[in-house]
Formats: sequence, structure tokens, C-alpha cells
Amino acid sequence: MKRADRSHSIQVFERRTANEPVGWGITLPRTSLEPFDYNLDYCHVLDLYVTSYRATGHLQTPVDLISISRDTLVRFLVKRCSSVGVDLRFGAVVDDVADIDLSRFDLVVAADGAHSLIRKRFAEYFGPTIIRSPVYHAWLATPKLFGGTLMIMFRECDGALFTAWGYQFSATLSSLIVQSTAKGLLAIASPVDSVDDGCGRVARVFRQELEGNIVLADGPVRWTHAALLKNKRWHHRNIVLIGDAAHTIHFSKGIGTQEAMRDGLSLSRHLAHASTVSSALAAFEQERIPEVSLIQTKAQSSLNWYNSVMSSYESGSTSVVVDELEAGRRRLESRVDTSGSV
Ligand SMILES: Cc1cc2nc3c(=O)[nH]c(=O)nc-3n(C[C@H](O)[C@H](O)[C@H](O)COP(=O)(O)OP(=O)(O)OC[C@H]3O[C@@H](n4cnc5c(N)ncnc54)[C@H](O)[C@@H]3O)c2cc1C
Repeated sequence: MKRADRSHSIQVFERRTANEPVGWGITLPRTSLEPFDYNLDYCHVLDLYVTSYRATGHLQTPVDLISISRDTLVRFLVKRCSSVGVDLRFGAVVDDVADIDLSRFDLVVAADGAHSLIRKRFAEYFGPTIIRSPVYHAWLATPKLFGGTLMIMFRECDGALFTAWGYQFSATLSSLIVQSTAKGLLAIASPVDSVDDGCGRVARVFRQELEGNIVLADGPVRWTHAALLKNKRWHHRNIVLIGDAAHTIHFSKGIGTQEAMRDGLSLSRHLAHASTVSSALAAFEQERIPEVSLIQTKAQSSLNWYNSVMSSYESGSTSVVVDELEAGRRRLESRVDTSGSV
């Protein structure tokens, strides 16, 4: 918005400090950074998706993804905002919506993430629904470099199944997103006097795939549940939800950030063309709710697939992973055209 019209006055309140790290790397479809003229030479290219069970490759398919460190992406966006005069206020926590005197602004954009304070404050108007997955995940990293491959690894430990997504996002690090059930977490739980922070136990489960590399966390390992969040409405008065505040997309799809950025682009386009803020918000909602809903349906079936593989495994069907991957291979083979692309 500021690039299109420098007369806009835009303030961003961010609770983190300017140099606080924001986590590991993410994947994005290759085209997602085009609207920002980002030089893809600074990204890592992923061109093959490989699924392995007990370190044996089962499913391979080409992908057109890039990966980038979240810090790099945020620094790039901060630089661009600063260069056009957006007023960025770091270390500015919005503790209460009353703090920001809504009437002082033409528009308040709530981009405050999945646990959005603003969405919670006006929940009766936005109508959120949240479905939590029974499976736990932790967002970790490793110096094991997966190159141009997005690896999805399945491993067993004490009767529980673990999945890990590994993808390189910088010259020295790969993201490692690990999933398991409550039983899996118990299987690798630390003895009371253990000094292991949880990373060592994950590294042991995936020792072969990580080729003995360590696992890193940006603090104590946090195991959380993925949640599918939807809102009936994305705007109320002069407030609009975007990104994870409005909708979450399971990480196995790897596009939550792209969709958050698309919300921002769509919103600024409608604001530039509509005669009033409220008509822009209505048009924004009309465009984005159906688009995101379609993606959320696909993300939900991906999440359900992982949940069902995990629970079938725990109820004794240990061959379920191989069966599912073989079924996936057959589905892929039936879709391969004569040029070999899927
Ligand atoms: C394990 C995992 C892996 C993922 N992998 C990928 C991936 O590979 N690719 C992908 O595209 N997406 C991925 N995602 C999803 C992606 O992280 C989110 O969709 C994306 O970060 C949403 O961006 P956002 O700006 O809406 O929210 P956030 O990134 O959560 O940003 C919200 C911001 O608001 C600030 N904030 C919150 N509350 C306040 C407050 N009260 N006052 C001031 N500031 C506040 C926070 O500090 C934060 O900076 C993954 C998610 C998870 C959990």
C-alpha cells in the first residue's frame, strides 16, 4: 500500500525486538516471492520430494519449491517496508485491543498469528472454529544437509511411529519438523535426571537418516498440536484478520506463509480500488475466503492422512506405512504423462 501511495501512514506493532530470531526455514512455491521482486539466488531450490521408511526411499516426485530462512525473509520485508517509510515499531506488544484505540485508524490489520489476541477479543463477530490434531509436532533443525530434496522420513521407536520433514534452507542448516503421538513422546521421554533437552532423543530416532548429525532447538523442545483454524468472517468494523490469525494451513502443505502474503496483496489491491474501506474489506473477504477454504480442505486431508497412518500403526498395523506409500506410488504412476512429469 505504501509503495502504491506514499501518502498512506502505516504503523506496524511487533512484539519481537528488531533482531530477535523468528525460527528456522520454510518452503514456498517458487512463484510466491515474485510479487516482491525477491532474488531467488538467495533461496535454496528443492526439486525432489522423497518419502522414506526405515531409511529406504519409497516415493519420489518432482516438486517446484524453494526454501528460505524465516529470518532472511523477515529481514528482506523489513528492509522494503523501511525503504518506503512504513513506521515499524519493534518490541511493541499489544496487550489489549484497548491499547491501540481502534478509532484512531482507518483500518486495523490483525496479522498477529494463530493465537491472535484481536481475533479472540472479537471472537463473537469473527466466528472462529478450531480443530486440533491429536498428533504432536516440534519445529527443529539439523546441520544434516538434504540438498535439493524435501525428505519425509518415517521411523519407529518403542511401538510408536515418528515422521520428520527435512529440507535444507541455508548453506549450513536444514529444518526438521518431527511428528508423533502421545505414545511416541512417552517412548522418548527423558529420565527425570536427564540433561538431554529432547534434541538428542529425536536425533537417536532418526540417527540413520541424519547420518549421526545433531538436532537443534531454539529453546526447550516444544511439542504442540497442529490446529485447523477457520473464521466465518474476516472483518468486523475497521478490523481485518489476515494470515494465520484468519486461517491456518497444516505445515505438510508448506504454504501457510505464501497464503499470509497473498492475503496482504489481495487486501492492498482491494483498498486501492474500492471507494470505501468497508467495501474493500467485503471484496477482500469475497475473494480470499473461498480460495483459502479450498486449500484448507486439501491441508486437512493431508493432516488426516498422517493421523490415520499414525493411529493405524499404533493399533498394530505395522505394515501400514509401506501399504500407504505403495498406494501413493501407484497413484503417482497413473498420473505420469509421456514426458515423465507428474
Ligand atoms: C511446524 C511448522 C512448519 C511450517 N512450515 C511452513 C513452510 O514450510 N512453509 C510455509 O509457507 N509455512 C509454514 N508454516 C506456516 C507459517 O509459519 C505460517 O502460516 C506463517 O508464519 C503465518 O504468518 P503470519 O504473519 O500470519 O503469522 P506469524 O508468522 O505467526 O506472525 C505473527 C506476528 O505477530 C506478532 N504478534 C503476535 N501477537 C502480538 C501482540 N499481541 N503484539 C505485538 N505483536 C504480536 C508475533 O510476534 C509475530 O511476529 C509452518 C508452521 C509450522 C507450525
